[in-house]
Amino acid sequence: ISMLALTACGGGRDEETGGSDAPAKGFAANSLIGVALPAKTSENWVLAGDLFTNGLKEAGFTSDVQYAGASTTVADQQAQITAMVTKGAKVIVIGATDAAQLSTQVAAAHQAGAKVIAYDRLITNTPDLDYYVAFDNFKVGQLQGQALLDGMKAKKPTGPWTIELFSGSPDDNNAGVFFNGAMDVLKPAIDKGDVVVGSKQTEVKQTAIQGWKAEGAQARMDQLLTSTYGSKELDGVLSPNDTLARAIITSIKGAGKKVPVVTGQDSEVESIKSIMAGEQYMTINKDTRTLVKETINMVKALQAGNAPQVNDQKSYNNGSKVVDTFLLPPVAVTKANAAEAYANDPKLAPLTKA
Ligand code: BGC
Repeated sequence: ISMLALTACGGGRDEETGGSDAPAKGFAANSLIGVALPAKTSENWVLAGDLFTNGLKEAGFTSDVQYAGASTTVADQQAQITAMVTKGAKVIVIGATDAAQLSTQVAAAHQAGAKVIAYDRLITNTPDLDYYVAFDNFKVGQLQGQALLDGMKAKKPTGPWTIELFSGSPDDNNAGVFFNGAMDVLKPAIDKGDVVVGSKQTEVKQTAIQGWKAEGAQARMDQLLTSTYGSKELDGVLSPNDTLARAIITSIKGAGKKVPVVTGQDSEVESIKSIMAGEQYMTINKDTRTLVKETINMVKALQAGNAPQVNDQKSYNNGSKVVDTFLLPPVAVTKANAAEAYANDPKLAPLTKA
């Protein structure tokens, strides 16, 4: 790339025509790409940061990868995005810490000519979001709900089965989508009386765990055990992810009860070990390597001045518009298919060998 092109594209704005080497409507190949990730609430976020740093470098971009801090997450992330805009990032990839609190920053990014991609979590109430790339979140919930039913039937062939429901952080748009997907499968069984929610807490707000915090899930499970399961048996727990699943299992074991069928998500190392040991029942494989690769493909398309590939233009209305989305398929994993599911994952494959 010539110095002229570098200078021409060095400013904060996306020059529609670009420098001499930049494609029409695209931007210079070594431009700055910002990646703003939430706090490290699960292993997938830790992995994503490393993969973005390496993958963007390999693709020839300059990158700025930031995580929101553990406590002041919203303000941190807002400031990080603002700094990326000021530094002239051409694309800003955001894993939102709070879906509804970024419209000002996203609007500023747009005004500066940057494109904004929501990564894994949707950003709501803004017309300025360009793309969304994620695993199919509703499908994740459906797979969890179905696995819960299957797992309980396998353990105890005739119902009714008693369950409890947990959902993720209310500020994460995914939490409600996971829950709705699971309820799409569970509600008919609940309505028929085949499945009973012991505590009667079936509303997403009653089941939510703020910040996806393990301590929150453990405390709620402790309370449920005391209020509802003195003598009653618990057959299953819908847990939205692995971190919460392990906290729920810890609580149940602490109360001296036998571990029911517990769902999860993320394929975290400790949960794969738990699944192989016959404790946690299932998880979801959402390969972070694939999600980051697809996101970088979007960035490359934008750099070349092309429209990134999307495969869904109906599912994600963010309150201001239907967002162009690229969805990947999640996979349900139990002990039965773990070896196959992680065969090409060097970190997890060894854990699935008997
Ligand atoms: C992600 C999940 C993750 C959760 C907590 C969600 O937005 O989609 O994979 O378990 O955040 O980090």
